[in-house]
Amino acid sequence: MKIVVLAGGKGTRLGLTDKPKPMVPIAGKPLLERILETAKGYGFEDFVFLTGHMGDVIADHFGDGTRFGVRLAHVREDTPLGTGGAVLQAADILSEPFVLIYGDILLDVDLSRLIAFHHRKGGVATLFVHPNDHPHDSDLVVLDADGRVASFLPKPHPDGAILPNLVSAAIYVLDPRALDFVPRSGSSDWGRDLFAGMIAAGERLYGYRSVEYAKDMGTPDRVAKGEADLASGKVVRLSYRQPKPAVFLDRDGVLNEEIDGVHTPGDLHLIDGVASQIKLLNTAGIPAICVTNQPDVAKGKMSTQDLAAVFDALDTRLAEGGAYLDDRYFCPHHPESGWPGEVAELKIDCECRKPKPGMLLAAAHDHGIDLGRSWLVGDRYTDVAAAHAAGVRAALVLTGHKGSDKLRFEDEADFIAADFASAIEHILGNLR
Ligand SMILES: [Mg+2]
Ligand SMILES: [Zn+2]
Repeated sequence: MKIVVLAGGKGTRLGLTDKPKPMVPIAGKPLLERILETAKGYGFEDFVFLTGHMGDVIADHFGDGTRFGVRLAHVREDTPLGTGGAVLQAADILSEPFVLIYGDILLDVDLSRLIAFHHRKGGVATLFVHPNDHPHDSDLVVLDADGRVASFLPKPHPDGAILPNLVSAAIYVLDPRALDFVPRSGSSDWGRDLFAGMIAAGERLYGYRSVEYAKDMGTPDRVAKGEADLASGKVVRLSYRQPKPAVFLDRDGVLNEEIDGVHTPGDLHLIDGVASQIKLLNTAGIPAICVTNQPDVAKGKMSTQDLAAVFDALDTRLAEGGAYLDDRYFCPHHPESGWPGEVAELKIDCECRKPKPGMLLAAAHDHGIDLGRSWLVGDRYTDVAAAHAAGVRAALVLTGHKGSDKLRFEDEADFIAADFASAIEHILGNLR
């Protein structure tokens, strides 16, 4: 499969005068070379660079790719045609699905996994998506329960809006059919207009949610951050190269106040200090993954759309503190009948409802988590038992239910914390 890199950027904000944007040095090596080497490391050897501004600098550095052990074609545009038009220029060599990467992204992404997801879903396009620490000024992607892109929320967002925290990292897998949506003349952009047009035409696009590192290096500040993340090992640590520890987080009573039924965004009240503590995990490159039983969906007290809106509220409150959850898993099931309006097909004895470990095991599979080095923070012994069933250590916080279900379980917590901050302090100390 071909790796196509958009390499026509100018790099004005980086102050580059003698080289185009993708050639910006990151810790002494051109970013474009890092992209090539990363993709090659995951087994890809067929590259297309879409160049424009100062394309000769790129051609001189990479040649036909022989020096780097790959095959490389350069397709140069004379007038900028946007990210869509640039790809269209290479249409005659793109007869199969291909990966498109923007040339200003520092990444360590297992592209084989991304491509396997694309084939499994069978859509016209797959977008690599993840949360970031500034969703309020990002273009956002809304996914349905199956991971299909439901809509895009372009910035700017209304003040005080409840927003999901999911953004496209400008890494796509595209079926050649996607090129049919690129206008034959003029400028066009995948993220800004083409994807929305494809959805409007009934095409299926999917979001591939990953904790892997992928950040744009468009400003000197971001370059400095990227270099620090390389030096600290964060870029590699978040990859699938080796299993990594995560911190699993129960939701109600741990992140937000336990009020016996959080059914609407207005019901969600973040516990003081939670955002700043999760931000410590984000900064350290330790995935923060919510695992929550939501049996009120099965009981008919709330719909899955209501639940999604509550998660959006959680995303929004965390983002106000510069923090994010890397992923979230919920169990909508409940084993016993007897509620008016209950949803029959969710009234099952499932494998995901804590104290069973299903959600933790699914997260470990999806994100390459080392369960033996991971922790869970919960407010009930149900959480502790689920953690132990997955081989994960458990910190019980004395908020929410404060471990009131102790009598039902033999498991002891590995750490008991007065509050979330003490739990995270203990866990970070343990992982260091
Ligand atoms: Mg709880
Ligand atoms: Zn379940």
